[in-house]
Amino acid sequence: MFAALVPYAAFESHSRGRKHDEPSSKYRGEYQRDRDRIIHSTGFRRLVYKTQVFINHEGDLYRTRLTHSLEVSQVGRTVAAALQLNEALTEAICLAHDIGHTPFGHAGQDTLNVCMHDFGGFEHNLQSLRVVDVLEAKYADFVGLNLMFETREGILKHCSVRNARELGDVGERFLNNKQPSLEAQIANIADAIAYNNHDVDDGFRAGLLSIPQLRTQSLFSTHFDIVHERYPELEDRRLIYEIIRSMIGAMVGDLIEESCRRIDAAAPSSIEDVRNATYPLISMSDLMYEQHVSLKRFLRKHLYSHEQKLEMTSKVQDMIDGLFTAYMSDETKMPAQFASAARNVEGAVRARVVADFIAGMTDRYAIAAHEALMA
Ligand code: MG
Repeated sequence: MFAALVPYAAFESHSRGRKHDEPSSKYRGEYQRDRDRIIHSTGFRRLVYKTQVFINHEGDLYRTRLTHSLEVSQVGRTVAAALQLNEALTEAICLAHDIGHTPFGHAGQDTLNVCMHDFGGFEHNLQSLRVVDVLEAKYADFVGLNLMFETREGILKHCSVRNARELGDVGERFLNNKQPSLEAQIANIADAIAYNNHDVDDGFRAGLLSIPQLRTQSLFSTHFDIVHERYPELEDRRLIYEIIRSMIGAMVGDLIEESCRRIDAAAPSSIEDVRNATYPLISMSDLMYEQHVSLKRFLRKHLYSHEQKLEMTSKVQDMIDGLFTAYMSDETKMPAQFASAARNVEGAVRARVVADFIAGMTDRYAIAAHEALMA
């Protein structure tokens, strides 16, 4: 069933376009094309070997950055289609949102940010934009993937004021306090819905979270009761799965309904009205948002800061720090393309080349690179 887009959706006919003009495609819309470019990129393929929460080699069934990105996209597309917004744009943003993520999840990213402290820092959203704008080297006519403005705008979820000033077009909204497209707002919340739910699943699978512990969370316990009443004999593995399924359904439904209410109240007639709104029109209800934040805090405390995870975190810190220090002092330890970019340059310019190289690594590449340096 094809539903026309609402007037305040992101229409490609009103887009701010691509940096380099290109002839349009005969069979695909411009945002479908962006999605396809993202899927064909090397940055996207690397996500399969990058940690979400569990290091890639800890087990075959845990989420990776790639499967996380696919789950985000699945949630995002459902919401975009239900609200008659641009599904292809939402999908493109969701698939690319973590494309600049470092190896080893948050521990990797935080460590690289510390290493880059004196050189402008490291922000993973900005790095995702850098990957699609600058680092992907595939096309003969331009650097990067030459994506549409709205796709790039959506990828840059957060940005410091200092960096926003340097970025030009996509940085403007952070300086003028404007909202991004509704498609970008959806991608942002789809990310949160995806990770909160799949981290419960992965944490339980790893034996780091138990059902009684999870039942202290009102969101989980509400859906535990619903599922348990219907299937009192269900074994734990399927029970957890049914609860998560029920939680995702409730969160997505709540998000769609609350967003409809906000859109009705604000009555935007174009994407400009969306951008000028003083608050995001895509949102969960207050009650759902509270439960969501509570679950997020719970996961931070009991899963991300679990001592087993912390032990891994300190190994990761040593590894990223070791790589950064080694490449800063001797660029020839990096592959030719990075070595030549870092030759005869110092300070922030040199550090950025090193950070680009490290951020692009998969977990296993980083482990091997670190072992090679220590040998
Ligand atoms: Mg994410």
